[in-house]
Parts: sequence; C-alpha cells; structure tokens
Amino acid sequence: MAEEKSLNFIEEIIENDLKSGKHTHIATRFPPEPNGYLHLGHAKSICLNFGLALKYGGKTNLRFDDTNPVTEETEYVEGIKGDVKWLGFQWAEELYASDYFPQLFEFAVTLIKKGLAYVDDSTSEEIAAQKGTPTQPGINSPFRNRSVEENLALFNDMKAGKYPDGSKVLRAKIDMAHTNMLMRDPVLYRIKHAHHHRTGDTWCIYPMYDFAHGQSDSIEKITHSICTLEFVPHRELYNWCIDNLEIYPSRQYEFARLNMTYTMMSKRKLLQLVNEKHVSGWDDPRMPTLCGVRRRGYTPEAIREFCDRIGVAKRDNLIDISLLEFCVREHLNKIAARRMVVFDPLKVVITNYPEGKTETLTSENYPEDPNGSLREMPFGREIYIEREDFMEVPIKKYFRLAPGQMVRLKSAYIIKCDEIIKDTHGKISELRCSYIPESRSGNDTSGIHVKGVIHWVSAAAFIPIEVRLYDRLFNVEDMGAVDDDFRNHLNPESLKVLPTVYAEPELAHAKPGEHFQFLRMGYFCLDTDATTGKLIFNRTSTLRDMWAKEVKK
Ligand code: ATP
Ligand code: MG
Repeated sequence: MAEEKSLNFIEEIIENDLKSGKHTHIATRFPPEPNGYLHLGHAKSICLNFGLALKYGGKTNLRFDDTNPVTEETEYVEGIKGDVKWLGFQWAEELYASDYFPQLFEFAVTLIKKGLAYVDDSTSEEIAAQKGTPTQPGINSPFRNRSVEENLALFNDMKAGKYPDGSKVLRAKIDMAHTNMLMRDPVLYRIKHAHHHRTGDTWCIYPMYDFAHGQSDSIEKITHSICTLEFVPHRELYNWCIDNLEIYPSRQYEFARLNMTYTMMSKRKLLQLVNEKHVSGWDDPRMPTLCGVRRRGYTPEAIREFCDRIGVAKRDNLIDISLLEFCVREHLNKIAARRMVVFDPLKVVITNYPEGKTETLTSENYPEDPNGSLREMPFGREIYIEREDFMEVPIKKYFRLAPGQMVRLKSAYIIKCDEIIKDTHGKISELRCSYIPESRSGNDTSGIHVKGVIHWVSAAAFIPIEVRLYDRLFNVEDMGAVDDDFRNHLNPESLKVLPTVYAEPELAHAKPGEHFQFLRMGYFCLDTDATTGKLIFNRTSTLRDMWAKEVKK
C-alpha cells in the first residue's frame, strides 16, 4: 500500500479553503515568460500547479506571461507547450497576458479615475532617486498631484504613441514612505516602441509585471496563484491592485524555487551558454532544460517522481542532483531494453569453435519480465569483449577472464582463456580461448559454474556506433554561491565523445525515444544528431552513482 503522505503547506491551504467554503473548486496557472526554454525549476512549478488541480479536481491554465515585447519569441512558445505536454500535463486553456492588454489598459484608467495612478515625466534615474532606501522614506514626484483629467489625457496620449520611450510612465499613487519599497508609487506602465510577438505594433505602452500578473490571475479567476519566494514582497502590491480594482480576489502563495547542485537554472544565463556556444544549443544533453534532459534520455515519469520526492519547501535550499539521477535510473531500469556494447574492444578467438560457423543466440530484452521479448544475436568464432574484463595477473576475487580462468559470455557460452597474444609494444592484442559447447545459456548441461558474466559482440556482425558520455555541466556544487563569472566554473570534462564503439547489430533498429541499458555501461538513447548512416547514442546515466554520495530512498 502506498504510504500516506503528509500534506504540503499549499495543500493544507487549499484543503482549508475547500472545507471553509471559501472556494468550491480551485484554479491554478503555470505562467512562463516565453523568453527561453523551460528548465527543471519550471518542471517543479508545472508539477505543483497541475498536480494540485488534478488532486483537487480543479483546472490549470497555461498562461504566457508575454508582457515584455523585447525578449519574447514565438519559437519559445512552441517549445514551452511541447515541454509541458511531454511532462504529461494538459492545460485547460492556453492564454496570453498580451490578450489582456485592452483590459489591463482599462484597469489602469480605473485607477487613474480613482485618483490612484498618475503619469510621471520623471526619468528612470529620477524615479529611482525618489524611492529612498529601506531605512529612509522616499520623496514625492513633482508630477504626483496631476489632476485626473490631465492624467487621463496624458495616458491616452502615451497609448497613442505621442511620446518617445522612457519619457513618461504611469505610476500607482500609494505611499512614498511605505515600509515596503515596492509600494512606493510603483511603475505600472512604460512606453516601449517595440514589436510584440503577438500584438505586433498595436501597443507602444506595456504593463509592468506587477500590473499584469495579478490582474491576469483575476481575469482567469485563478484561486491560488503559486509563485516562488522572491515574489513575497510583491504580494502586497498584488493585493493592492486587485482590491482597488474590486475584481476577482485571486491570492498569491509562495514556495522555494528549485535549486540543484552542479547546475544553474536561470533562462538568462542558459541563453548566454547557448549564444556563446559553451553548449550546442538549448537542447544540449548537459543543459538542465527540459528539452536538454529529454534529449539526454530522462523520462517525464522520472522528473515527476523527483518533483514529488523533493516536496514543496518554504525556504530556499539546494537539492542534490544525484536524487534526480536516482529517479532516472529507477525508471529506466524498468523500461530500458538491454543491449551489449563493447567500449574498449579486445579480440577473442574461440579456437575450438568451427571456422566459418555462425549461430543465432537469443537474449531477453527485459530480464525483469520473465515473459518479455527476446532478441537475436549472432555468435561466431571471433568476438570482442571489454578490455577491462580481462586481467593477465588477476587480483583476488576477480571473476572475469584471466589466463586459465573461465567466464560466461552473457546469453552465450562459457569460455576459458588459453593464450595471450601481444603486439610488438607488449600490449595484449588478442586472446585465444576455448568454449564449452554444452554450456549454452538456456540449455546448459555442462555442470560448470562460473561466477563472472561479461558482455561481448560478434566480430563479424557488430555495428560501429558513436557514444557521447556526459558529466556535470559545472564543477562547483552550489553555483548560486559563486561570486565570480559563472562561466569560470564550466566543467571541461562534461562531454566525452567515443567515436567508435562496437554494438550488437540489433541496435541498428533503435528508434528515437527508446531507452536502452548497455549492459554494465549505463543507460543510453539515440541522439537527435543520429542518421541512418551514423548511429549516435547519449549516455543518459551510469548504472550507479559515480559521485559516491548515498541517496536515501
Ligand atoms: P528564470 O529566472 O529562469 O528566467 P523565471 O522565474 O523568470 O525563471 P518564468 O518563465 O517567469 O521564469 O517562470 C514561470 C513559472 O515558473 C513562475 O511561476 C516561476 O515562479 C516558476 N519557476 C521558475 N524557476 C523556478 C524554479 N527554479 N523553481 C520553481 N519554480 C520556478
Ligand atoms: Mg520571470
């Protein structure tokens, strides 16, 4: 039986709201700004918002928070939609804050009419200087007492395009001595003669985040607007706008953003890595983006499990990336088909196997499923094994191949090493072995028991593939704590390409999106760079945590 999980603090709030009758249903939203691709931090927010609605029978909107015309692009909108679907969630409605521009403009007019907003001709420097400091009150703008009529006329002229960028703003009239700096007459609208990805050139004034977000929530009747902790100081302004506009009372709740070791989750910095070609693109398999981890072979199930395990925190913390890798392995172990691939080949000639003979052996794709499918593998007189699966002078308890020692070839025969052939540099170039014909896997009548099992490929039938091995993108555990340029901490070893390794022929049929366990080598998937002529596989993860820290279940 599944363990009864205690409620997180947002679930507690929701359950209370449903119990008290404050809400009869809940509505959440996921509000990305389309200025980059989604990352694992967004996945946390997606799982939380969509998860709550699923749990409590509500709905979740996908709302593009596209109020900043300069950085936003349609390409990102499409990417984000694909990523949310891939994670396994379906939104109730696809909405755009930019669709609310006419309504937001009217809201601003309402505030002006109530004497709660004014047009200010101060420069941004002057406005900053008026703000004061956390310990000192600000000072009123000389334009603060304009009449409602003048403000309405000026605001309409701003909208009509009569003024250049930066020459005027609309500000809320609250209190320049407010203890919350954000309440000191915040800017609500600014002039920006810029092309917007959806509204084109219709608008040259754009609402600020604080004037767009809460009102968009309210328009959609979002009950619980969940965001990250840096928005705590904004909550007062969020409520001020909604209360003074007397519109649907959406309410904001904050949780700790997801930070993970050895990576970094800021679209701005990730964009810099892309633009400066430190990575191959947003979907570079080392990136913490959803398109990156997808290309790497992470599964949505593993990411959802990870988000579930880390829970919803009220304080900022740093999550060990090993926990995500653990969830990935746990899922892939169940779904990955097994294949044999030799990374560092050492030739083995089976001297008592008839020359010219080949046979077809079978091996299970999913060893944990006793009725699972089988695949065929050609076997012959010459094979390759992993160089590290042989030791000329074996250490104690070495159960793999050694002179005079026997080992089982996975799904094939037991072989014994009879002779070592070396090249002129003294390097082992070939092993001469004999096999036990009665020891065939599945039909072993030899009576011989060996402890070691190694993987192999047929020398006559293997296919060459490229594999790409990935490691952590940064070599510092807490990237949030570095005070110099984050690019100084890129891990130079984060990508290792092995241009030719030897794979069993079945891998030629690998399809995009399939997951494989290359026996003893890790989990792999076909890379998007692969072509029919050149197979390229990404290592999704090693089989075990190579970074030693124990992950508690
Ligand atoms: P970035 O700093 O990477 O640009 P952002 O917060 O500006 O992130 P948005 O597109 O505005 O990105 O975020 C959409 C939603 O995802 C917001 O509700 C935001 O709070 C949430 N979110 C973003 N990053 C994280 C994170 N690391 N952990 C949890 N939620 C996050
Ligand atoms: Mg943002």
